[in-house]
Formats: sequence, structure tokens, C-alpha cells
Amino acid sequence: DSQLNHNYTFESFIEGDCNRVARRAGKTVSDKPGGTSFNPLVIYGGVGLGKTHLAQAIGNEVKRQAPNKAVLYVSAEKFINQFIDHSKNNIINDFIHFYQLIDVLIVDDIQFFARAEKSQDAFFAIFNHLHQSGKQLILTSDKPPKDLDGVQERLLSRFRWGLSADVGLPDFETRMEILEMKMRNDGLEMPKEVVKYVAYNIQSNVRELEGALISLLAQSSLNRKEIDLELAKRVLKSFVKTSSKEITIESIQKMVCEYFDVAYDKLLQKTRKREIVQARQITMYLAKSFTKNSLKTIGEHFGGRDHTTVIHSCQTVKDLMDTDNSFRDSVIELQQKVQLAAM
Ligand code: ADP
Ligand code: MG
Repeated sequence: DSQLNHNYTFESFIEGDCNRVARRAGKTVSDKPGGTSFNPLVIYGGVGLGKTHLAQAIGNEVKRQAPNKAVLYVSAEKFINQFIDHSKNNIINDFIHFYQLIDVLIVDDIQFFARAEKSQDAFFAIFNHLHQSGKQLILTSDKPPKDLDGVQERLLSRFRWGLSADVGLPDFETRMEILEMKMRNDGLEMPKEVVKYVAYNIQSNVRELEGALISLLAQSSLNRKEIDLELAKRVLKSFVKTSSKEITIESIQKMVCEYFDVAYDKLLQKTRKREIVQARQITMYLAKSFTKNSLKTIGEHFGGRDHTTVIHSCQTVKDLMDTDNSFRDSVIELQQKVQLAAM
């Protein structure tokens, strides 16, 4: 038994800027387990952002394409407990041998290995054996591998052999898509304005987004009332931090200027300098995804540009994020800053 949850598939995992690299790397790995340089594949990121889902999707996809492959999903916590049981009974070799027979090993939440020295020794032996035999390892962690305090350096250095990819906070559009997919799957309908309201206000993580949807459903059936904006506002009160500051075009402009060390008035002028053009485009893109302002209003905030300039800017940013990693990192970092500022 592979211990996989069959609902966690690639189809049900919405791709957004926040997880594109991780999702695509996961796809590549599922098509050729052990046969790419993404070994191990380390997926890291905060709570509720899809690490477990994505890791399991890889396992499920491998099984779909190659049913005979031995895939195993295990949390690091469970691995440690199993290890302790086996060492009590003096059958550690059985334990290690069992794991060495696996083709695709998924270990979830490896931060739990911290300071579990003996378990790390066993995992080290298993890792080496699997890696040398061309088997695939997929690991998830709540922080980047380099920040895993209490994990042996020899393990960390092996993690660097492969690819580490993060899953971040989804932007507004991605949150909308996730909500719409979940609603479709549950045969649930609600007005677009409500979906937007939920997507706009729940920015913390995907699990919370799901939680909000469930609460909405529960309240609507309890009150025998259709889900409308009024109900949504009431239900979301318990989710949204009341102190939350509103994100405005101005606040985003300020953040981007600070980030790139660009003067505010440069953002509004017609300067064609590349750095400034890019900062301006990113600001428009963020304003589009984080505020409810119209394209026209956004344009007006940049020295009276028109809405087609805003559309063009957003498209340029999306294209560049696909092709330029350092650009992408900057945008993601800014997205996180904007989100944090609103909490
Ligand atoms: P983590 O392991 O990072 O804490 P999970 O993988 O458990 O997060 O995800 C939390 C919930 O959010 C799960 O129900 C998962 O299906 C859902 N989820 C996360 N990311 C996405 C996504 N990109 N598309 C669809 N559902 C997602
Ligand atoms: Mg998880």
C-alpha cells in the first residue's frame, strides 16, 4: 500500500505563479522517476500551501503511468516512530531493507528529522541506497533546506544534489481559480461577487480558503439561505483579521519603490530606463492582482496612462516570470511583502 490519497492529483492542483516551478518539476519527475536531475526533489513552503498535495500528486501520477512501481508516502514523523519501534526490537536492518526496495519514496515534513539523530542515520543509509540505484526521492519541508537546523550537514548536502522548489502564497487570481475548482468539484454554486470577496479576503493559505468555503456551506444550510455577499461577510468575519489594512495602489507603489530603490516620481514619469520600466510594470501587475481597482484607475495612478498600458504591463510581467528566474523571485518576494503588509 502506497499510503497515497487519491484526491491529491495534478489535475486538482491549480498552477499559479506561486507554485509553477514546483508543479512543473513534479510533473517532470512523475514522467521519469529517478531519471532526471531533480533527485531529490525538495518542495518547501509555509503551512497549507500545497506541499503534501503536490508530493502526493507525484506519487499518484507515477502509479497511474507505471502501476508496478513501488511508491511510498510517509511523513517524517511516522518514519521516526517506525524507526524507534524497530530499534527497540533490534530489527533496524529490516527497517532499512524495507525502504531500500522502494522506487519512489516521498517523505513529508522532513523538518521533523531535526535532532532525531538515529533516524537521520537510517534515512541517510536509505537515501544513499535509493539514489545510487536511480530511485526517486521526493521530500517536503516547511523551510528551505539550508534553514533546517538540527539536520545533519551530510543530509543537507545531498538535498542540494537535486532541485529545491518552493510553494508560496497564491495571488488573487490563483485563489479565484482554486475556489472555482473546489466549487465545481463539490457541485456548489455561488455568485461571482462572493467568490471574489472570499478570494480577496482570505490571503493566508489554501487550507484557510477551503475552510472558508466549508463554513459558508455550513452556514448557508443551517440558515436555509443561499450564499450571498451578506452571508459571506458575516462568515468571513471569523477568518479575516479585523486589523487588516487595506492594500491600495499607493501602498503597493511605495513598497515597490522601496524594494527596487526607485524614486516614487520616476514611477509616474515617462522614463524609459529598463529598471524603472520593470518596476512600473511590476507595480501595475501587483495593483491588478491585489486591489479591486479597474485597469483605468490603475493607469491613472501612473501619471495618467491608459488601460491598454496596464494590460500590456501585466502580460509582460507574466511572460518575464516564465523566462527569467531572478525577475520571478523579485515578483514573488514582492507579492509576499504585499500580503504580509495587509495582515
Ligand atoms: P501543506 O502540506 O503545504 O501544509 P496541503 O498540501 O495539505 O498543504 O494543502 C492544504 C489544502 O489546500 C489541501 O486540501 C490541498 O488540496 C489544498 N491546496 C493547496 N494548494 C493547492 C492548489 N494549488 N490547488 C488546489 N488545491 C490546493
Ligand atoms: Mg503537509
